[in-house]
Formats: sequence, structure tokens, C-alpha cells
Amino acid sequence: KDEHSLVESDKPKETFEDVGGLEEVKKKIRMNFILPLQQPEIFKAYGKEAGGSLLLFGPPGCGKTFLARAVAGEIDANFIHIELQAILSMYVGQSEHNLHDVFQKARENKPCVIFIDELDAMGGSRHQMRQHHERMLVNQLLTELDGLQSGNDQVFVIGATNTPWYLDSALRRPGRFNHLVFVPPPEEEERSTILQLKLAGKPTSSLSLGKLAAETKLFSGADLEQVVNDAVTSAMERTFETGEIQPITQDDLRKALKERKATTIEWFA
Ligand code: ATP
Repeated sequence: KDEHSLVESDKPKETFEDVGGLEEVKKKIRMNFILPLQQPEIFKAYGKEAGGSLLLFGPPGCGKTFLARAVAGEIDANFIHIELQAILSMYVGQSEHNLHDVFQKARENKPCVIFIDELDAMGGSRHQMRQHHERMLVNQLLTELDGLQSGNDQVFVIGATNTPWYLDSALRRPGRFNHLVFVPPPEEEERSTILQLKLAGKPTSSLSLGKLAAETKLFSGADLEQVVNDAVTSAMERTFETGEIQPITQDDLRKALKERKATTIEWFA
């Protein structure tokens, strides 16, 4: 943790392999963030600039944060997580100052991925004082983003929001969050992959993940993770009862998914 606990930083070990599905999204990120770092000469030859900033949007729990961490993991970068809501709870002036410090710190610890969660926290307030505060912070963020344009800073900014329609329009202008990427709920095959990832290395009986995937329409990655956690708990309870390691069964998973709801439904409503 940082001296101001609004900001957390670490060096993620997750990579794209840990993120189930989202192939299109990964491809886009590879092209814009990862390959330019690995093969700058190719991008130079075509007069393309590397880096920039990326805006991920979509329903909660579908992997925006996870993906951002994996980007850092892929390029062996530091990862700084900013929660805007927390920064906005500071005094006017202090918020902007803090945001500036974060970008400064990122430049000193490059390569670095800055992840800004809840970007929509900076738009749409009706309260006048608050509006003023949000505007100041948006301006500061724009200044910081413009500052990154100037060279190969190796500082990458990834923003995320569940509600892109509340986003301050200044943030979406060209040169700011120039890559807008939808992170959808996983399709059936992707759900199967995610279940497999979450069960990896755990004792299981023979499972038909395909069947479970078919029964979990609109479940987010986070929902699926919960299903697996619940099933793990059931198997562990049996283990404590019998004194022997019990595998996670199809039945454990089926029961668990019956008790969980697909949380992305509300987002689409
Ligand atoms: P929010 O909008 O609520 O912040 P988010 O889109 O950032 O949500 P994450 O925090 O990235 O969602 O996802 C929550 C958890 O769900 C992750 O820690 C991860 O374990 C799991 N998860 C989500 N999507 C995937 C995925 N595609 N593959 C593997 N795990 C996933």
C-alpha cells in the first residue's frame, strides 16, 4: 500500500492466460500496448505511436480489473490502481495533487499500468460544489493524459466504467481514451473456460463443464468464480466430515449455480 491508501500498487503475476475468453479484447490490447513495447521498430516503420490509453466498459464482474492486471503481467509492468471515488472524497486541490503524484510515481516506476476504476464518478453529479470538484479532477486527468502523449513514457492508462454514458465527454475526445473496448459477459464456451481456470489444481470428480456453461447464461466471470467457491466449500465440508479429501462434484457445482444469479442481467435491463 501507498502512503495515501487511496492508491494501491503492486506487480501483477496474472497474464492473459489467466483471463478466460475475451480473445477480441486481448487482440486489441496486444496490438496497441504489448507489441509496440516488444517490437517498436515495426510500429515506427508504419509511423504508428505506441501506447495511449484504453477505456474498458461493460457490466460488473466481467474482468475489466482482471484484464488490466493481466496487461501489466504481460509486459512485466508495475500496476497502480486508482479508485476515483476515494480521490474525490478529498478536498479540492488535494485530489488533483494526488492524481498528479500517481502519474509521477508511474513515470518513476516504468513500465507501469495505471488503472482508473469508476471513471464515471467524474461526471453527472447534480450537486454544484461536487460538479466543480469533478471538473477540476477531469481537467487534471486530461493534463496528465496529454503529458503522456509526448513520448515513449511506457506508462499506460486503462480506465474502466460500468456506465460509459455518464462519462464526462471531454474524456472521450480523440487523443484521450482513444481505444474504447466493450468487455462483455462470457459466451458459453468462455464460461466453460473460466470454470476450468477456477477449478484448476483442485480435486474434482469427472465433470461436464459444458453442461454447467449451458446453464449459466449471462453469468459474469465473478459469478462463476462464486459458483466454484461455493462448490469448494461443499466439498471441504464433506472432507471435514469424513477426514478424507473429497473431490468437487458436478452436483456441488450445479447446486451452487442454482443459488447464484447472473448479475449482468441488471446491466442489460
Ligand atoms: P467491476 O466493474 O465491478 O469493477 P470488473 O469488470 O472489473 O468488475 P473484475 O474485478 O475484473 O471485474 O472481475 C472479478 C473477478 O472475476 C476477477 O477477480 C476474476 O477472478 C473473475 N473473472 C472475471 N472475468 C474473468 C475472466 N474472463 N476470466 C477469469 N476470471 C474472470
